[in-house]
Amino acid sequence: MTSSKKTASELRRDPVSQEWVVIATRRARRPNSFVKEKRTDWRVSKKDCPFEHLQDEGVPANWTTISIPNKYPAFSVGKKLNTRNIGPYQVMDGIGFHEVVITRDHEKDIPQFSLSKVKELIDLYQERYLDLMNEPLVNYVAIFKNKGPSAGASVAHPHSQIIAVPVTDPDVEQSIKGSLHFWKTHKKCAHCLMIAWDRKEKKRVVFENACYIALCPFASSVAFEIRIYPKNHFAYFERADDFEKQCLAEVFLKTFQKLEKGLNDPDYNYFLHTAPADGKNYDYYHWHFEILPKTGTWGGFELGTGVKISTIEPETAAEFLRKQ
Ligand SMILES: [Zn+2]
Ligand SMILES: [Zn+2]
Repeated sequence: MTSSKKTASELRRDPVSQEWVVIATRRARRPNSFVKEKRTDWRVSKKDCPFEHLQDEGVPANWTTISIPNKYPAFSVGKKLNTRNIGPYQVMDGIGFHEVVITRDHEKDIPQFSLSKVKELIDLYQERYLDLMNEPLVNYVAIFKNKGPSAGASVAHPHSQIIAVPVTDPDVEQSIKGSLHFWKTHKKCAHCLMIAWDRKEKKRVVFENACYIALCPFASSVAFEIRIYPKNHFAYFERADDFEKQCLAEVFLKTFQKLEKGLNDPDYNYFLHTAPADGKNYDYYHWHFEILPKTGTWGGFELGTGVKISTIEPETAAEFLRKQ
């Protein structure tokens, strides 16, 4: 990459999404400049926390990790989509499931969990996934977490969410389509090729164990973006076996510990990208988690052009996180 240092930035293209991103090189920020200066104390006392009184709502008193219906759901349970047209517009009822996954401790989040607690969270994700994917109108199950106010969380108590809906979200759809296009063109999985290359180069690897790898993607769309992939080609998150989930739990734990230590507990979003649950064949897909730390605010260029700028090279970000 020495040659790229001559220019202010380098344009990199993601082979799946086909999107170009701008990686600042000459004016790239040093890793330490991303460290969150002060914790914004947005926490609420236990007494005012909506997740401290779940027993009153019929949840067994000894719960440790639980998924319950969201009190303010974005989708409601129903039996019919009621698809219709209004002039040129297509409309359907917002049918689906919206759950909140809550871990018991009011303060402790993933970096403070024991390995078995992280495993418990992943087990629950998979359990709920399997249940929800079999609901008649559900074609896609989204698992995601918004951590911190700048990532869109409204409750401080550690939690994540599951939405199961009839339609696949555009981001996943793009990832699926891009993977299929690559598969058809090259007869290979783009994600597998990237993983193999990155493991050989080692520069973007954050952490890996027997079956999973965490890396800062070559064409990162934000500073300190991280993806967690199964190292072998698997399309379906819900089929991960117990040993694989144990491995995933370790990579999850290490990754979030490194993020917390390195950047001083940044806000972030993470989400699962896995094959849709619509019964079609997605064997060409390669499921993964994407973690997007809130390390900056999008400016006019990003919003206006859709081209994202990462103000640190993924190689530098990964090296910094490896050391944590
Ligand atoms: Zn709480
Ligand atoms: Zn693959």
